[in-house]
Amino acid sequence: MRELIGYIKNIMETVATIFEGMAITFSHLVRRPMTIQYPDRIEKPVQETLPLRYRGILEVDMDICTGCLACERVCPITCITIGIEMNKETKQRAFTHFDIDICKCMYCGLCAEVCPTGSIRHSQEFEGACYNPASLVRHFVTEPVLLYKPKKGGETDPRLVTKVEVGLKYLDEFATPEGKAGGAGAEEG
Ligand code: SF4
Ligand code: SF4
Repeated sequence: MRELIGYIKNIMETVATIFEGMAITFSHLVRRPMTIQYPDRIEKPVQETLPLRYRGILEVDMDICTGCLACERVCPITCITIGIEMNKETKQRAFTHFDIDICKCMYCGLCAEVCPTGSIRHSQEFEGACYNPASLVRHFVTEPVLLYKPKKGGETDPRLVTKVEVGLKYLDEFATPEGKAGGAGAEEG
């Protein structure tokens, strides 16, 4: 008799737990979904919601890059390769290439921190998927670009003023988040 009671009790517990589980399952039919259909059913691009200090795919503004090589030297895994040549006639130095292998990059931010002008910085972009890993090497120089020379007393070239400001603002907010003023080398001669 005791065995029969135990047997029936087991069946009742089994039925009860099945109903309990199914109740949770069916409750999701009427709940608002937690998932979001990305990327086509969101109110605005995720990139626009990311903070300035988000470490997305690196970008370089060659117009304000001094060619100091600090970013190349500091990168722990040699993602950055920079080439500079002197024009024998004009005696001006120009970039031959500035490449970043974002496939290798670990987004540590060290290169952006040491840049004196804020020319290399993390963007808000994170969608880098592609079929060919070779296309993950970003080339920022397609034709020789002269090195930027920061001016004493601040930039005066109207084409560069905003770019310098953007770079220094980035440095202040990314590399020195505690509000220490100034992105260094912008005042070198
Ligand atoms: S974020 Fe880090 S790993 Fe990536 S290029 Fe800069 S220093 Fe190198
Ligand atoms: S100015 Fe910035 S981006 Fe240009 S070489 Fe120096 S550290 Fe790199």
